[in-house]
Amino acid sequence: MNKFIKKSLIMASAALSPILASATSIDDVYNNYPVNEGMTDEVVVKGDKTCFELWSPKADAVKVHIYCDGINGKPEKCVDMSLDAATGTWHASLDGALYNKFYTFSVKFNGKWLDETPGIWAKAVGVNGKRAAIIDFSKTNPCGWENDKGPEVKAINDVILYEMHHRDFSVHHNSGIANKGKFIALLENGTLSLNGVPTGIDHLKELGVTHVHILPSFDYNSVDETQIPSNTYNWGYDPVNYNVPEGSYSTNPSNPYTRIREMKQMVQALHNAGLGIVMDVVYNHTAEGDGSNFSLTAPGYFYRHREDGSYSDASGCGNETASERTMMRNFIVNSVKYWAEEYHIDGFRFDLMAIHDITTMNLVAETLKKVNPSSFVYGEGWTAGDSPLPVDQRALKESVAKMNGIAVFSDDIRDGIKGHYSRAEDCGFATGKVGLEETVKKGIVAATAHPQVDYSKCNNSTFPYAKSPSEVINYVSCHDDLTLVDKLAISMKGASEDLRLRADKLSQTIVFTSQGTPFIFAGEEVFRNKKGVHNSYKSPDSINAIDWNQKLKYADLFNYYKSLISLRKAHPAFRMTSSEDVAKHLVFDKVKTPLLISYSLKDNANGDSWKEIKVIFNGSPEAQTIKIKKGNWTIVAQDGKIDLEGIETFKGGEITIPGTSATILYIK
Ligand code: CA
Repeated sequence: MNKFIKKSLIMASAALSPILASATSIDDVYNNYPVNEGMTDEVVVKGDKTCFELWSPKADAVKVHIYCDGINGKPEKCVDMSLDAATGTWHASLDGALYNKFYTFSVKFNGKWLDETPGIWAKAVGVNGKRAAIIDFSKTNPCGWENDKGPEVKAINDVILYEMHHRDFSVHHNSGIANKGKFIALLENGTLSLNGVPTGIDHLKELGVTHVHILPSFDYNSVDETQIPSNTYNWGYDPVNYNVPEGSYSTNPSNPYTRIREMKQMVQALHNAGLGIVMDVVYNHTAEGDGSNFSLTAPGYFYRHREDGSYSDASGCGNETASERTMMRNFIVNSVKYWAEEYHIDGFRFDLMAIHDITTMNLVAETLKKVNPSSFVYGEGWTAGDSPLPVDQRALKESVAKMNGIAVFSDDIRDGIKGHYSRAEDCGFATGKVGLEETVKKGIVAATAHPQVDYSKCNNSTFPYAKSPSEVINYVSCHDDLTLVDKLAISMKGASEDLRLRADKLSQTIVFTSQGTPFIFAGEEVFRNKKGVHNSYKSPDSINAIDWNQKLKYADLFNYYKSLISLRKAHPAFRMTSSEDVAKHLVFDKVKTPLLISYSLKDNANGDSWKEIKVIFNGSPEAQTIKIKKGNWTIVAQDGKIDLEGIETFKGGEITIPGTSATILYIK
């Protein structure tokens, strides 16, 4: 999520003041709440009974309301619930299997009835997520779902991530896709752009990425689901119901079954194409503060606060959740587990992960591995503002070595390659700025300890924070900030398109050959721009949609990306899994010239069929030369072209690296 504030919702939590009067601290109050260690099933149909429960230990009273409609009309029934004081959980059991009915809870707190809420564990909802729905989940499964399975992943380093927003990907009139902006857009095979090249899921298969990372797809707040198809655009970092798919991505948000079935169909289509799916999750804050489902269920408990009782705001969005508290931790862990089990989601990307504590993140990764050994977790190892959570407990990038099975985004390589993320005119190594060579080298070794990297000269983190290359995600751009294309246009003032395309290829060559896991932003392979808008979270389709006619126009760039992916997939030397291997097999050449980086992957690194691979990056727009030892070299990348069969042979000696380009060669 963008580090810039999207929405300001800072407000004092009115709920807190009365209970604070006799307590020493807010944390003391909440840590003394009785907890429900198991799973809170807010609704379960058991034979001819429908059972409700809600965890809300300090409520004066709780009611459940039954409706026949998802948004309109008065309740058919309102039933008082009774408290089990030991677990702080309220219960009610109603006659009948109430399938296809809707329900809400209301909680009386400090003598006042709060607004109705679908609870925090709604798994199906009506339009706009105001009321939860009681449905038969067996009816949501597409045909063959019981055999659906994501790709096997031995190490995250083998994964190639493609970050995609449903609407960006399919909504353009050139996409050739019928179900524009919908989950089921990915079910359409054989779609073509107006100028006749494959789009949609065929495009993904052709490109060769292994996993699609979808932007938030749980039920979020900002798009009015009653206004389909003219609904507006949003990234979706404003969570409402964490355990239900977003309605606007379905063809009928009013039918609680549709969004669930269609999301599963999308997952199945990706899996059938051999692709995995990663979901972006945003447990760090909610769209609303006092009005959120957390606040209407157990006021105050799920959030962190300042000493004056107001919400603390490490998310920059008005509040932050408190993962260190038992029931919030329990919620996060069980929620990701639910998505992995019910929807077969293969991986999770945690937004502003450092708002969460390390213990919670380790528990998340451990729990997911039990559900699916091929699962993986990565996240943003930073916050967007200060937090009451002590720094040493935060799941920060710099603390990734304390986490197991979790990777962090490398802002080091990102800013090293293209320049500072928010200073638009700043250049990086690939755009000719001297002094970032050591930072790029840190990226190449995935921020592991390497004897030839001088971390004191690096930007951002100045120590080897990763204990293994599996802990780092390499990228040059994502949905946040300028797209690579816009960044190049602004920072390389006056440069020809040809030079910008060269810088684009060089940037991604560094990403795809580096140790760690590569990640690209959807559409960059077709030179996608966002007209210079860096924070396009609510910009119209005219800014965010990918124009698929560009795939033909920039076919040379697309083919370059495709070849880069093939190169990485064919050569495990780029995918080492231990820092010891990287330190041993990755050897930098002693280069004194600025803007030139050269290294070898030696001795059939990680079982590679190539004995030695030489990778050379020239960030200068001028050609530079370097000496290479004698041998039977085959050049596979040179001057903006890649051919795994070999472009030409080379006997060693002085080699010229054309300006703003990468050269890759090998000895068998
Ligand atoms: Ca929604």
